[in-house]
Amino acid sequence: MTDLGKNYIAGDWVAGVAEVENLNPSDLTDSVGMFAQASGDQLDAALDAATAAQKEWAAYGLERKQAVLNAIGTEMMARAEELGTLLSREEGKPLAEGKGEVYRAGQFFTYYAAECLRQIGENADSVRDGVEIDVRREPVGVVAIVSPWNFPTATASWKIAPALCYGNAVIWKPANITPASAVALTEIISRQDIPKGLFNLVMGAGREIGQRLVESPKVHAISFTGSLDVGKGIAASAIQNLTKVQMEMGSKNALAVMDDADLELAVGLALGGAFGGTGQKCTASSRLIVHEAVHDAFVEKLVASTQAFKVGHALEAGTQMGPVVSAQQLAENMAYVDLGKSEGAELMCGGARLDMPHDGYYMSPGVFVNTTNDMRINREEMFAPLTSVIKVGSYDEALATVNDTNFGLTSGIVTQSLARATHFRRNANTGVVTVNLPTAGTDYHVPFGGCKDSSYGSREQGKAAAEFYTRVKTAYISAGVPS
Ligand code: NDP
Repeated sequence: MTDLGKNYIAGDWVAGVAEVENLNPSDLTDSVGMFAQASGDQLDAALDAATAAQKEWAAYGLERKQAVLNAIGTEMMARAEELGTLLSREEGKPLAEGKGEVYRAGQFFTYYAAECLRQIGENADSVRDGVEIDVRREPVGVVAIVSPWNFPTATASWKIAPALCYGNAVIWKPANITPASAVALTEIISRQDIPKGLFNLVMGAGREIGQRLVESPKVHAISFTGSLDVGKGIAASAIQNLTKVQMEMGSKNALAVMDDADLELAVGLALGGAFGGTGQKCTASSRLIVHEAVHDAFVEKLVASTQAFKVGHALEAGTQMGPVVSAQQLAENMAYVDLGKSEGAELMCGGARLDMPHDGYYMSPGVFVNTTNDMRINREEMFAPLTSVIKVGSYDEALATVNDTNFGLTSGIVTQSLARATHFRRNANTGVVTVNLPTAGTDYHVPFGGCKDSSYGSREQGKAAAEFYTRVKTAYISAGVPS
């Protein structure tokens, strides 16, 4: 049974102890609905149900699990238009991005459906005569998934799909400002052939219900995406129970534009990388490190393209950038605009609140120039449609600047030199490196994650996810003496 707005606990849709209203950031007169906030008791019930259901699910045959994941992914892809519209309505990204996100989320499920059949261990001879060794992966147990609002469906899916694939139960705490996408995905999962309690949706404030979840000794692994400070707090809670933890947090991604770059390409990559998703991507190009030989021409083209970038209602045709997600995020963005100016950066365009036909959280995309890498706008994750140009005199200076950050998620170079591209790929201190491609936008069948303050724990996505969602068992078998 579908019951929009409720939590899904132990196989039932249940009302919470309170409700929050979900407003469309493109049009604050449009209410997406009221959404339940779970109580601590409800979370405890979800944990108990998950503990019991996990054993049943782990005992399902491989093809039965595969069929469940396939059905979820196939339905999401088929309903990408409808679910993408809901996502864009509550999060504010343009409809094409919302639809694309739901379709991609479906692909995570179909990918991991196939992975259900590819769980192949290792075997070896022992150093002891007559003994053989079998090494295989087992589920970790109950997994807590704490996800952010900026990719409300895709981020959750790249965690939920492998968690289920490898035989685990899930408690999902989505971001509290994008609950509709969470309920929609849960509704699809709830109709599958899964044990009651295997999958639970627990909505509510992160610092309350989320905190209680990550402190629970009944959770065996926590996968988190969000901010650095919350991530550090979660890691501190997890260690109390020695709970396995994996975190993807902030970033300060750089796109280096070299003197031999195709400038049209470079501007296109910078524009999409900086302002796609209203700049609210962990892979956003927030630092544009540009060789002095092409700096002025690049800035001129970038500013012209930025000024032409169409800001509007997420669901209106032609919109290239929607509103930011919330009043709080908008206020923080405006504070960064003021900070940048006070640090001496020159705002070439944008960075202003916009009055639109609909009352929403609109601002214009902004470009700072004359910035240095030690400015706070170039060191802190702004999560805003704001980008900074940093002028450099050489490739070596560009690479050093790319790496001069506490973060390390993605970086890119725009160059026609194979030597520089190769050197950059090997020496950029980021988990993802791109050449003549945007810093944002990754595939689903290969590892994703960063280094330094951007990520902690083992990689997500692709086969790499098995490391987190399983534990390894090494069995020694003596065949005995043949009779
Ligand atoms: P948070 O880190 O606050 O939230 C991420 C998730 O964690 C949400 O589900 C949140 O719930 C939950 N959460 C918050 N506090 C706790 C807690 N103590 N224990 C358990 N779970 C908790 O990020 P925000 O969404 O508030 O965004 C703030 C900033 O974080 C952004 O401006 C951006 O800089 C960064 N961010 C980075 C992302 C990335 O991909 N790199 C993604 C999202 C944010 P709730 O929604 O209820 O608060």
